[in-house]
Amino acid sequence: MHTAIVVHGGAGAGEELSAGCRSAAQAAAGALARGEQGLAAAIAAVLVMEDDERFNAGTGSALGLDGKTIEMDASVMDSRGTLGAVAILRSVRNPVLVARDVAKSPHVLLAGEGALRFARMMGHEAYDVVSDKARREHQKMLEKMATCEQPMAGVDNIEFERYWNYDGQPTFKAPHGCDTVGAVVRDADGHFAVAGSTGGSAPSLLGRVGDTPLIGSGFYAGADGAVAATGIGEYIMRNMLASKVYHWIAGGMDLHEALRRGIALVPPDADTGLIAVSKTQAGWLANASTPFAHL
Ligand code: ASP
Repeated sequence: MHTAIVVHGGAGAGEELSAGCRSAAQAAAGALARGEQGLAAAIAAVLVMEDDERFNAGTGSALGLDGKTIEMDASVMDSRGTLGAVAILRSVRNPVLVARDVAKSPHVLLAGEGALRFARMMGHEAYDVVSDKARREHQKMLEKMATCEQPMAGVDNIEFERYWNYDGQPTFKAPHGCDTVGAVVRDADGHFAVAGSTGGSAPSLLGRVGDTPLIGSGFYAGADGAVAATGIGEYIMRNMLASKVYHWIAGGMDLHEALRRGIALVPPDADTGLIAVSKTQAGWLANASTPFAHL
């Protein structure tokens, strides 16, 4: 079986991140060349991007609207039966490794305080996630909101003031987001794997969970392929995008047609990207600038 790797660096992220996606895909290829399984390869790719501050995942995660809080989501799944995810996880360097550990536990998804305690118990040390990039991006977002530009498609900025649930008072007048990371892999044994990680979409309220840790929304892998989505989670979740695209492919639809139909489900102004591998094909598609790599 020919191996295949597709990596994305977040819907709406700049094309300048493509080189970072290539490095991530090469890390996955290195893992496969060492004989590791597809999931280890997908995780290797995501780790490279979690450790690269330019991506909105791990080290480069976006700040919450309060300018202090970072809550991260991540997931792993493969066609060998592995399934694990974390949501609203704070203060670890590599959420995707915690998701992998959750897959070994009796559960498939841990969130918040419990996820953090689990991470510490599994040896993931405390890590100060707030990067200078996140501070700069947060400042830019506040400036955008001050002009009442609407960075989140379909959401009036006033909603973030109305439902404000952080400590203190909002310091903005209105929202942006999205350079999440993900990887799908077909390994030499014909198994499929997906891994994803995000600092969430900005702006968001405290405790917001996106599509990235939700099976069938942000990710899916099975005997016929693997799919990952990126973009505004609220649209991806409503459409259960990864599951739909996977099942179209599993039903025999051409992979590129399945990606096209998937992207057509979300409004054109909601930045969205999809990556997928099947037994015979691999590809990606987005309705906005989105860095990808394919090996
Ligand atoms: N889908 C992620 C979320 O909504 C963000 C992204 O893909 O950029 O949390």
